[in-house]
This record gives sequence, structure tokens and C-alpha cells, in this order.
Amino acid sequence: MKRLLISSCAIGLSVMIACAPVSDADEAIVQSVPEIAVTEPDVEDAVPLAEEVSNEKVVDDQAVMQPAENKCSKNAKQGGLIVCQLPVGARVSLNGEAVAIVGESGLATIGLKQNAASPAIVSWSIDGVEAFEKFEIPVAARKDDFRELTGMNCDKVDARTPEQKKHAGESWVKKVDAFASLNAPVSSSISFLKPADGPYSSPFGPTRHYTGVSEITGKKCESTSVHRGLDMAVPVGTDLIAPMGGTVILGDPDLYYEGGSIFLDHGYGLVSVFMHLSQVDVAAGQSVQTGERLGATGNTGRTTGPHLHWAVKWRNTARDDRNGDFYIDPAIVLELADLDVQ
Ligand SMILES: [Zn+2]
Repeated sequence: MKRLLISSCAIGLSVMIACAPVSDADEAIVQSVPEIAVTEPDVEDAVPLAEEVSNEKVVDDQAVMQPAENKCSKNAKQGGLIVCQLPVGARVSLNGEAVAIVGESGLATIGLKQNAASPAIVSWSIDGVEAFEKFEIPVAARKDDFRELTGMNCDKVDARTPEQKKHAGESWVKKVDAFASLNAPVSSSISFLKPADGPYSSPFGPTRHYTGVSEITGKKCESTSVHRGLDMAVPVGTDLIAPMGGTVILGDPDLYYEGGSIFLDHGYGLVSVFMHLSQVDVAAGQSVQTGERLGATGNTGRTTGPHLHWAVKWRNTARDDRNGDFYIDPAIVLELADLDVQ
């Protein structure tokens, strides 16, 4: 299996999810590689005394550092991710728009929206000077399902009572606060595991348009939601593990829509969001390694049955605000280890 492991340089990632019909649709990153000086080996020190010295130049391989090669994913898909290894500090652009600053890892991620154009043109600049090199990456199209659904119970869609509205409002503030920070990576490469052991039950991407009538007011209502996470059908109490190392930025047992929730910032402009948990065993600020247990899946918040909703939010590290961030397809993120890098 080909693996995208660019571990000799620095790396970063992000996530969010929403479940139909109530979608809490909350919504990137690139890095560059600094020039690495080539160190001349100290020939004298490398030659044992008391032995014959040949005319061959003695080179200590360990002491020679080659500059990191600039490269990006060879292929991409709408709703997915491009990973590049570029000079540290480089400002990376997708089709001319800044999308990431390359961190110390030398790795950067570029999120692709569900309608992203093909090819993706990746360029970068250092200190305002545009690099001559560019990458042109084909972006495969995706086909997301669209469905009209009638008979929605309007009275159950949104927070209605003052208590519900207060709970929903407080939950919203917690989420916004959690996403305010960008954390350095914990893992030295970008590679994901499934966060729970179970089958997929609902993919990322489909749009649902609901219509219905309120039994209380008799008025019609409608709602549109895009499923921005990947659902896994797992029984309540199933172990939830960190798909990749990171820093916990939110651990809350009772958000209004999401129920028990954990947000895990992997760095590299990628955040995992886990919803409907029965147990939250980590707290904001905590650093976790790949595979470490975070809690347990459940059926909390606004759900229609036990499942794990896993979302991945890509964050634009070239922006100070968080308005350029959006959710990408976790199923594609899981395949990153199989991507070629050109
Ligand atoms: Zn979901």
C-alpha cells in the first residue's frame, strides 16, 4: 500500500457534522518547506585515525541533509483534500486564493468544496515572491444524492421552548469558542484511522429538503440540510478513539443538537468532530495520540437512533477569521494514506 507519509517535515487538519433533518451546519490548510542547508560532512572527523586513508571522499550519510522536495497529492476529489509538502512559511493558494500557511512540519492541506473545479491549481509564495513551480491536480467529480421528503413534524425541528432556545444558544457559543484556536500538530504525518469499529450508515454529502406542517400553528415549514459528516452504525457504549493525534478543543456531554461532543484539532488545518456520544472522557486542552480512547458512542442530542457522527472540518490557515472553513468528506480523509504524492 502506498502511504502518504511526509514525516520528515512538519504537518496539520479539522472537522464538523450535522444530522438530518436538523443540520447544525457549522462548516483549510497549507504549509511550505524551508530551505534546508546542505551540511558538508566533516571529513577529517569521519576518518578513523590509525587506519589507511583512501583517496575516496568519506561521506557520513547521516550528516547530509537534502532539501525537502516540493510535492502535492497526485489526485483529488470534490469534497476531499489535497496534501502538499512545501517550504515552511510559504503562503499557499488554490486557484489564486490563499488557503494555507505552511507550518513547521512542511505539510499543508487544501480542502476542496463539494463543487470544486478541476483541475486544482496549487501555487505558493514566500515573502511575497511567487514560486515558479505550480501543481495542476485533477479533481474527480462526486455525485451527491438529493431527496425531497414530506411529512416533517415542524414542531420537532428547532428549539421551541425558552429552555431549549437557551440550551441551543449556549451550545452555539461553546462551538464558536472552540474553533477560535489553531493548534500545532501532535502527529508527524497526516494519516487517519476509523474512529469506531462499525459499518457506515450514512455518507457525507447528500442534501435533504423537508417540508411539513406544524400541528401547533397549522403553518407549513421547510428545512434543507446537507449531511456534513459520516455516520457509523455502532451500539451505545462503543469505544471512540482518536483517528489521528491532536489537541482536544471541546469536550461537552450535552450540546443541544449534537449531544455529547468532542472536537479534536489535529493541526494541519484539520479538526475532527464527534457527536451523539454517551461518554466524554477528555477535556479541552488535552493532547491525545492516534488510537487513544476519547469516550464512547451513544444516542444523545437530536438523533434518530444510536450512531456516531464523525465530521472533519478543514480550516483555512491563511485567514485570521474562520469564515473560509468548511466540512470535507471523512471517507476521503481516511483514504489519504493511499494517495500518491506527485
Ligand atoms: Zn450524521
